[in-house]
Amino acid sequence: MSARIIDGKTIAAELRGKVGGEVKRLSTQHGIVPGLAVVLVGSNPASEAYVGSKKKMTVEAGMRSFDHRLPETVSQAELMALVNKLNADPAVHGILVQLPLPPQINSQDVLNAIDPAKDVDGFHPINAGRLASGLPALVPCTPLGCIHLAKTVRPSLAGLEAVVVGRSNIVGKPLAQLLLAENATVTVAHSRTADLPAVCRRADLLFAAVGRPEMVRGDWIKPGATVIDVGINRVPGANGKSRLIGDVAFDEAVAVAGAITPVPGGVGPMTIACLLVNTVRAACAIAGLPKPAV
Ligand code: NDP
Repeated sequence: MSARIIDGKTIAAELRGKVGGEVKRLSTQHGIVPGLAVVLVGSNPASEAYVGSKKKMTVEAGMRSFDHRLPETVSQAELMALVNKLNADPAVHGILVQLPLPPQINSQDVLNAIDPAKDVDGFHPINAGRLASGLPALVPCTPLGCIHLAKTVRPSLAGLEAVVVGRSNIVGKPLAQLLLAENATVTVAHSRTADLPAVCRRADLLFAAVGRPEMVRGDWIKPGATVIDVGINRVPGANGKSRLIGDVAFDEAVAVAGAITPVPGGVGPMTIACLLVNTVRAACAIAGLPKPAV
C-alpha cells in the first residue's frame, strides 16, 4: 500500500484562485482593493526569495503589494516608525514583518506594534489570545494551511486523535488551537515528551513541526494516518547542491500512512496562499464587511 500524496502545490493554487475571486468581488461591489505591506530588513537570501514569491502571488491575486526594504543597520525606532505609518495607511490591510530580524532589533516589540487588525501573520498576542479563547482572530498562516490540507483528506476532524510534534508560537501552538476548534483530541509533543514514537503512533492526524530532518520514522506512524510534514530542512544533495527534506522520513512513511504531504510541495505553498486569505479577511473585517468566502 502506498499513501495518497497530498499535492500542496495544486491545493494552494486553487485557494489562491478563490482569493482572486473574492478580491474581484470586493473591488467591484465595495471599491476595496486589499493591500499587503511586506517589510524586509537586510538581505537574507531565503527571506528575499520568500518575499519575492509573496509579492508575485499578491499581485496575481489582484491585490496591492507594498514592499519596504530597510538596511541591516536599521534602528528599532526607524522600524517602529515604519510599522506605525503602515498601521495608519488605509490602503494597507495586512502588514508582515519578515523574520528573522537583526540582533539590534527586539522582534517581539516590533510584532506587538503591528495593529492586530492588520496582523496577517497572526503573531500578535491579541490574535494568539483570541484564537486560544475561540474568538475570531487572524491565525498564523502555516497552521491554517495545515488544517486546510488535512481537511482535503478528512473533511471532518471531529473526534480524531491529533498529535502535533513541536510547540512553537508560530506553528505548534496555534495548530493545536485550530485542531481543538475542529473538535479533534489533541496532544502536543515536544523535546521533553517521553516515548515520542508511541505518542505519534496514536495519531489519526500526525503533524511534524520540529526542524529535524527525517526524525519521524515509518514505524512511528499508525497505518492509514494522515501525515502533515511542516519541516523544511536543507541538507547536502547530489552534485554538491543542497536539497530540502521534511521532518518525516518520507520513503518509510509513504508505505504506512493513508495520506502524506511531500517536502517540498506540501505545506510550503499553503503558507503564502493562507497569507493572501488573511489579507482578504483583514480587508473585510476593517471595512465592517462579513467574513469572505475563503
Ligand atoms: P522551532 O525551532 O521554533 O520549534 C521546534 C519545536 O520542535 C520545539 O517545540 C521543540 O521542542 C520541538 N523539538 C525539537 N527537537 C525535538 C525532538 N527531538 N523531539 C520532539 N520535539 C522536538 O521551529 P518552528 O516551529 O519555527 O518550525 C518547525 C519546522 O517547520 C522547521 O523545519 C521550519 O523550517 C518549518 N517551518 C515551515 C514553514 C512552512 O511554510 N512550511 C513555516 C514555519 C516553519 P521544545 O519546545 O521542547 O524545544
